[in-house]
Amino acid sequence: MSSPVYPKMAVIGCGLIGASVILAARASGAVTHVAVADASPAARERVTALGFADLVTADPAEAVKDADLVVFAVPVMAMGEAARAAAPALKTGATVTDVGSVKAAVAEALIEALPKSCFVIPGHPIAGTEQSGPDAGFAELFQNRWVILTPQARDDEPYLDAVQRLRDFWTALGAQVELMDDKHHDLVLAVTSHLPHLIAYTIVGAAADLEGVTRGEVMKYSAGGFRDFTRIAASDPTMWRDVFLSNKDAVLEILGRFTEDLQAMSRAIRWGEGDKLYEHFSRTREIRRGIIAAGQESPEPNFGRDHRPVLEAGDTPDTKAQ
Ligand code: NAP
Repeated sequence: MSSPVYPKMAVIGCGLIGASVILAARASGAVTHVAVADASPAARERVTALGFADLVTADPAEAVKDADLVVFAVPVMAMGEAARAAAPALKTGATVTDVGSVKAAVAEALIEALPKSCFVIPGHPIAGTEQSGPDAGFAELFQNRWVILTPQARDDEPYLDAVQRLRDFWTALGAQVELMDDKHHDLVLAVTSHLPHLIAYTIVGAAADLEGVTRGEVMKYSAGGFRDFTRIAASDPTMWRDVFLSNKDAVLEILGRFTEDLQAMSRAIRWGEGDKLYEHFSRTREIRRGIIAAGQESPEPNFGRDHRPVLEAGDTPDTKAQ
């Protein structure tokens, strides 16, 4: 068996993502020893029962002692506090990363809290589910998913080597790695993830409050589109509160543009401008096809699928090839 990318890994916060990182790292042989720190007694109890960590503690400093890689997998606004607790025990030359859904604010919090003797390389796996907690983790979560790393603007060799090693780690876990500026990450994710969640939370809340439509009817006829929103709107409230508060500027910018487009749609409906609606819906259908072609169509794990387009009901091989 080849040698591990990092002999010792510490994961601070062992919910869905932390547990998945551990399971994927263990399955691939990317690590040999795993220490976990989690603030939740219930999570610690479950991690102990599941048996995938060598050490389980409430104390981040105890977990990071001797670790070659430290992964912060707590909610975005808890990153600073967790990093401050771990800082005094960090090994010189350790790589410190995170999995937070917002990058600029997290990078600032980590760099401020951590000693200069470690390599801080923020990261974000674009993979997840609406579940939380260690029991929700699974080893295949990152298969063929993107992981975005947002390294600091440094070009010294030790730091670049640390970035390459972290890339090797995620690659071993089945992911594809891309490097990006943290502010650009936050803008891109505001479009692809944060705004869709905000819309889902809003629609599901609005439907629940609608007078004249009973809750029973909402449940019964949910297959007409609403059901897909309810899955997204079931996502963890702490995580998403933190995402919106930490990525305020980008989310408000994208929300402003969305509101303008929504006004245009409502005008087209009001004035019976069918050609405008048809043109818009045709364009968005192409975007969906692009996602399928990129192998990112399913919320389910991507068990080693390749990136060829997948035929869907109504498609012929010819239409798919366009
Ligand atoms: P999760 O399942 O709720 O797990 C987070 C764990 O961290 C909980 O056990 C929590 O305990 C613990 N925790 C909170 N503050 C802590 C602290 N200061 N020190 C130690 N442990 C602490 O969350 P998750 O879904 O795995 O998300 C973790 C991170 O991944 C977030 O930053 C999120 O933005 C990012 N992410 C999530 C997804 C997704 O789909 N879920 C996808 C990509 C990235 P308590 O429950 O007691 O607070």
